[in-house]
Amino acid sequence: MLDPKDEIKQKIDIVELIGEYLPLKPSGTHGFKANCPFHSEKSPSFHVSSDRQIWHCFGCSEGGDCFSFVMKMEGMDFPEALLHLGEKVGVEVKRLSTTGSNVKQRLYELSDLAVRFYEKVFSSEAGLDARKYVEGRGISADLRQRFKLGYANTQWDTLTQFVLKRGYSESEIVSAGLGQKKKVGSGLIDRFRDRLMIPLHDQHGKAVGFTGRVLPGADENGPKYMNSPETPIYHKGHLLFGLDLAKRAIKEAGGVIIAEGNLDVIASHKAGVENIVASSGTALTEDQLTLLARYTKTLIFCFDRDAAGLNAAKRGMTIARAQNFDVRAIIMGEDVKDPDDLVQKNPEAWAQLAKHSVPVMEYLIERTLAGKNLTKVDDKRAIAKELLPFIQEIKDVVEQEHWLQVVGNLLAVEPATLRTSIRQTETKNKSNTNRVQEVKKPAVPAKHTKEEGIVTLLLGVLINNAQTLGGYLQELSIDASLQGLERELYNQARDLYTGAQNTPDQTLFSRLRDHFDAHDREDLKQLLIKLSLLADRTFSQLSPAQVEDQVKTLCALLGHSESQRKRKIIATKIRQAEQLGDQEAVQKLLSELSQ
Ligand code: ZN
Repeated sequence: MLDPKDEIKQKIDIVELIGEYLPLKPSGTHGFKANCPFHSEKSPSFHVSSDRQIWHCFGCSEGGDCFSFVMKMEGMDFPEALLHLGEKVGVEVKRLSTTGSNVKQRLYELSDLAVRFYEKVFSSEAGLDARKYVEGRGISADLRQRFKLGYANTQWDTLTQFVLKRGYSESEIVSAGLGQKKKVGSGLIDRFRDRLMIPLHDQHGKAVGFTGRVLPGADENGPKYMNSPETPIYHKGHLLFGLDLAKRAIKEAGGVIIAEGNLDVIASHKAGVENIVASSGTALTEDQLTLLARYTKTLIFCFDRDAAGLNAAKRGMTIARAQNFDVRAIIMGEDVKDPDDLVQKNPEAWAQLAKHSVPVMEYLIERTLAGKNLTKVDDKRAIAKELLPFIQEIKDVVEQEHWLQVVGNLLAVEPATLRTSIRQTETKNKSNTNRVQEVKKPAVPAKHTKEEGIVTLLLGVLINNAQTLGGYLQELSIDASLQGLERELYNQARDLYTGAQNTPDQTLFSRLRDHFDAHDREDLKQLLIKLSLLADRTFSQLSPAQVEDQVKTLCALLGHSESQRKRKIIATKIRQAEQLGDQEAVQKLLSELSQ
C-alpha cells in the first residue's frame, strides 16, 4: 500500500489545485504560468508543469510540489497540508502523534461537533423561536444549512454534558471556548445560552468558534452579539467570516467585498452576491489582509454616506495601500445602513450595487467635497489638505496623475501646483521613520558565470529528456564549472541515469525526486524542480530534433569554455615555472597546452 503522501500525490492534479487560487495561462506544451502570489510582479514568473506536477517562481525562487504550495499559500505546516489535501482527494491521513497540531485537531473536531449539536437543537422543539427569527429574516433552509446556523437552548449545560459523553475533557471544552467553570461548585456551564448560533469557519471551512446572537424578545442579559474567546484555533484578528464560501466567487468577480457584520454576508448570499467576507465589526487587521492577498488584490469596501463611513474609508485605504491592494468602494444609499439592511428591503438593488464599485478616491473626493463651498479659498485649501495625502500614497504614477488632475479641475488649480505641494511634503517626510514599510522585495537570483548558466540549462533539459538525450549526461565535461549543489545534482543525475536502467518506466526526473525525498535532501529537490522548469521555459516551443541541436551547441560551447579555462590554468603554471627556472616543467606544460 502506498503511504498517504504518495497516494495524495497520485490523485491530485497540481494544475487544478493551483488553478483554484491563481488564473493559470498555458505556457509551452504542458506548462502554465501566472503572476506569482508570493511576491509582487507585473509579468508572470510563476511556472507550473503538469507533466512533472511541480511549480517554481523564477522571481522569488519559491517552488516545490502540491504540498509546499498549500503550505505556503495557506500558511500550514506539513501535517496540516497533508490532512487538507487528503480530505480534498479522499485519502485518509493518520494524525501525527503528540504534536501541537494534534491538540488543535481535537479542538477542531470538538467545534465541529458543537456546530452539529446546535443545528440539531435548532431543528428541535426548543428551537422554535430561533427558527421564527431566521424565517422572519427571509433566510431559506438552504441558506441556513450553508452557514450551518444553530441554536443554543436556555439550559445551563446541555452542550457540555453532550460533548463530555463523547469523550472530550472539561479542559478541552474550556480550551475550545465552549464552556466555562462554574462560579460556585465544580463543573462547567455552557458559554452560549439562548442564542442564535452562527458558526465561524476558517478559510478551509473548519469550524473554529461562534458568534451567538440574542433572539429578539429574549431576556437581554449580555451583549447582542457574543463571540467565542481567543482559542488555540480561533484568532479574531485572523479570521474572515464567509471566506471559506467566497473563494470561487472572489476569483470570478475579481475582488472581495468587505462587510462589517456576519449577517451582512449571509444576507448577501441570499441576493446571489457571494464574493463577500466580514471582518467581525473591526477594522481589517494586517493578518486578515495577508490572508485575502492569497485570493485577490482588489478590496471593495461598503461605505455609508456619513462621517463614520469616511473615516473607515481613510483607515481602510491606508492599510490596504500599504499591502499594494487596489481599493474600491460600494457607496450605500442614503436610507440603508448596510448590505443586510438593503437585502431585507431589496435584494436586487444590492446585487446591482455590488457590481458597480468605484475607485475609493472617487468616494473620498465626493465625501470631502460634501458641504464645502468651492468658491471660498479656505474651503479649497481644506479640501486639498484632506485629499493630497491620499493621492500621495498612490504608488502608480499614472493613477496618481489622474487624481491630481481630477482634484485640480475641481479646485480650479493647476495639477502642477498640487504636484509641487506633494513633493514638498515628501521631502519633509523623508526623515520621518514612521512611514509605512515597503513591501519586501523578492530575493534577486544569484548571478551565474557564463559556464554555470550553460551547465544548469543543459542539466535541466537532459533530465527532462533523459529517455532520448540522457547519453549526453555522461559526455559532459564540466570539471570545475559546477560547484556545490549543482555539482551534486549533476553527479546524482549521471549516476541514476547510468545505474538505474532497470526502472525504464520511471522518468529520470521522478527517480531523482524520489531519491532526494528518501534522503531528506529538500535543497537538491528544490534545485531539481527549478532547473527542470527553467529548461521547460527555454525549450518547450522546440521540436525534439531542435532540442537536440540546441543541446549539441550548448555542449560544444561548454567544451569550448572548459578548454579555455584549462588553457588559462596551464598558461599561469607556465609563467610560474619560468619564474622558477624549471625548464622541464615548462616543456611538459607546453606540450599539454598544444594538446
Ligand atoms: Zn515569486
